[in-house]
Amino acid sequence: MSLMVSVSGIRGIVGQSLTPEVVVEFARAYGTLLGGGRVVLGRDSRPSGEMFSCAAAAGLVSAGCEVTQLGIVMTPALGHAIREGRYSGGMNVTASHNPGAWNGLKLLDELGLAPDPQRAARVAEIRAAGSYRQVRAGFRPLRHDDLAGERHAEAVAGLVEVDVAALRGMRVVLDSVNGAGCLDTPAFLASLGCEVIHVNGEPSGEFAHEPEPLAENLMQLCEAVVRHKAAVGFAQDPDADRLALVDERGQFIGEEYTLALATRSVLSRRRGPVAANLSTSRMIDDIAREYGVPVIRTPVGEAHVARAMLASGCVIGGEGNGGVIDPRVSPVRDSLSAMSQVLQLMAATGKRVSELVASIPRYAGLKKKFGCDRTRIDAALKAVAGEAARRGARVDASDGIRIDSADGWVLIRASNTEPIVRVMAEARNDKTCESLVADICSVAGL
Ligand code: MG
Repeated sequence: MSLMVSVSGIRGIVGQSLTPEVVVEFARAYGTLLGGGRVVLGRDSRPSGEMFSCAAAAGLVSAGCEVTQLGIVMTPALGHAIREGRYSGGMNVTASHNPGAWNGLKLLDELGLAPDPQRAARVAEIRAAGSYRQVRAGFRPLRHDDLAGERHAEAVAGLVEVDVAALRGMRVVLDSVNGAGCLDTPAFLASLGCEVIHVNGEPSGEFAHEPEPLAENLMQLCEAVVRHKAAVGFAQDPDADRLALVDERGQFIGEEYTLALATRSVLSRRRGPVAANLSTSRMIDDIAREYGVPVIRTPVGEAHVARAMLASGCVIGGEGNGGVIDPRVSPVRDSLSAMSQVLQLMAATGKRVSELVASIPRYAGLKKKFGCDRTRIDAALKAVAGEAARRGARVDASDGIRIDSADGWVLIRASNTEPIVRVMAEARNDKTCESLVADICSVAGL
């Protein structure tokens, strides 16, 4: 498996495609782009993280940067630290939800966003040309800030808007998958009054299960919720930007509901536009309609959503993969902000998670992927665009092609990282999803 490079950074297999040399090169290139400057550097809990963090620090310092090391932190804590400390940028050593054999780098700009495509391309060019900024004297000493995670958690708790007395003593099971969420999440939940049962709560980076927060990986959490008679189960990924929910019956309710419930929670108190990417469920449109606010749809990728939120003054936004952004905290997906919103909704309504879920219109969904080279992907998209125009369909072509109709929506788009094309649909029932997918596949020649 080769090194995966995208706007948000790099990912690779430790000791194969991802080596300290590669990390030094990217850090030198990013430090060059930043022209020196003050940078915060964090890592998730993977055992290779300290080694790569040292390599990243060396690369940044060699380019004249002043590096503040945060140690093991959640990616949203890094975003919060950048904003709070007015840093020029940040770097987190993490492979997010990828398995333990992986590691990587996430780059954040001075706003806490993944660099825009031009800046990301510039980093790659600097690395390819080896045209690094290299200071020869006046190296800036490493700084350390061990409290960035704590301050992030306090910031999220400080933004609670409802009386959380109803949460006092409420039992919550937290699965931090032995990732970066282990450190500050239990105290955060306790500060809201919850009684926390923590599973996989050692920040060892030895993942007790596959780390992506999907149903098949969260059996232990579902069982623990039932066994402890908890009101809710929370599952974080290793860098704790994503959150999945388990209801009080021990049912995994799907990652799409994290953003849906967070949106309802915020809009019930404050009206304003919301943002989500093109592949996020229509549930957010239904909720926004109830409150009379618009939904801004963006291409897939956290930075696209965050940029749209900043530009339009959104009150909440994110992605259907369990990524919730509260722009008051930082423009980074944040499992703590997501937990806070879900708990506030529970406290304000007195409803159980399953009841809150039942109050949102339910959709069926279908996702397929096809191995496809670039030429074939381009031909497929062109055929779909032509046919949609011929039919006079409602089309969004900002990232692949999404076609919306009264029945539902279907999206065809190329993966940013792999030679595959993804087709996904959402509609009232499975049969409609299947026919939407079958139709677009036949037009696309897949
Ligand atoms: Mg993640």
